[in-house]
Amino acid sequence: MRFDTLAVHGGERVPGPEGSVVFPIFQGTVFTSEPGESYHDIKYHRLNSTPSQTYLHDKLAALEGAEAAVATSSGMAAVTTILHTLLGAGDHLLVNDVLYGGTHDFITGQAQRLGWEYTVIDPYDPASWEVRENTKAVLVETITNPLMRVGRLREIVAFAREHGIVSVVDNTFASPVNFRPAVAGFDLVFNSATKYLNGHSDLVAGSVAGSAELVEKVRHTLNLYGGSLDPHAGYLLARSLKTLGVRVRQQNANAQALAEFLASHPKITHVNYAGLPDHQDHAHASELLSGYGGMLSFRLAGGVRAAETFLAALTVPAVAPSLGGVETLITRPAVTSHAGMSQEDRENAGITDDLIRLSVGIEDAEDLLTDFAEALDKV
Ligand SMILES: *Cc1c(COP(=O)(O)O)cnc(C)c1O
Repeated sequence: MRFDTLAVHGGERVPGPEGSVVFPIFQGTVFTSEPGESYHDIKYHRLNSTPSQTYLHDKLAALEGAEAAVATSSGMAAVTTILHTLLGAGDHLLVNDVLYGGTHDFITGQAQRLGWEYTVIDPYDPASWEVRENTKAVLVETITNPLMRVGRLREIVAFAREHGIVSVVDNTFASPVNFRPAVAGFDLVFNSATKYLNGHSDLVAGSVAGSAELVEKVRHTLNLYGGSLDPHAGYLLARSLKTLGVRVRQQNANAQALAEFLASHPKITHVNYAGLPDHQDHAHASELLSGYGGMLSFRLAGGVRAAETFLAALTVPAVAPSLGGVETLITRPAVTSHAGMSQEDRENAGITDDLIRLSVGIEDAEDLLTDFAEALDKV
């Protein structure tokens, strides 16, 4: 089955309980056990084994093209649980040079007390990658925030295989509509399901997918650390997954239209979107991805003052951080997602104070283009 069919029918129980076409919420935490059942058969929310949870896991695995999946209480629960599964004291990790803020702060702030070592790699230069004797895993992101760089992901998979380490990718910005890492050979893929997978800016969740063996190890760690997803949030997430393809394709198309419009506008000095032919990763992103995603960033001539005037003049987007919802969101990373970095580190990373980041929604592209054009006229 193809992606959109899997989104609707993947993981569904046929017939559903009591003949229900829509899989219901099993809100109860306890389930009776049969004589002879072991601890592993217990159905309990924190053990991620209730019918609502296993249904969601099957749906996520189907969409990822993976053997197995498990849902977590947030994207951060997904990445921290994965790292606690793969690394022990004395182990070494390779990480992307640019990481989501929470992931970055977790690794840089906690690695030392956990006894983990890590090395930052340049994900665009495979020749520079090196493992140590104690290297256990490599962690990268498909599309990085906020400059929308696309790493050498096929080379990461090959490198991890060659050296016998586990490859892990945060696929939040791409979503499985634009890239399916498990199919491309990654050992583990995780998402902040808060973003595109849910897509309605109304719940926090995470997902982890990969081989049955690795996912079972992650689930075991998750059971101990306790970051399981509430069944009601899981129900909303499973419902949202059914429209994932429809939503993300519209977001891809809207983002491409806006990126092209902005790139040709005299008041815009720079646009970061891999769907534009002059983006530095356009060539390999075009081979790797089936869409360039709904995230882009850009700079206006006139600096912070122009950026603020522009944001205030827009009427369709909401000025807010986060991403992946049906509504267009716009923000300045320097004062939101990257406010924790020093000004100097930000400048070095290309995250200037006037950089504007856009999470494109599913509105009509014409309305977005008109709104952007009118707001730029006021700058
Ligand atoms: C939001 C986000 C996370 C963290 O997810 P939460 O659901 O907020 O815990 C991780 N990675 C990326 C790329 C994100 O955008």
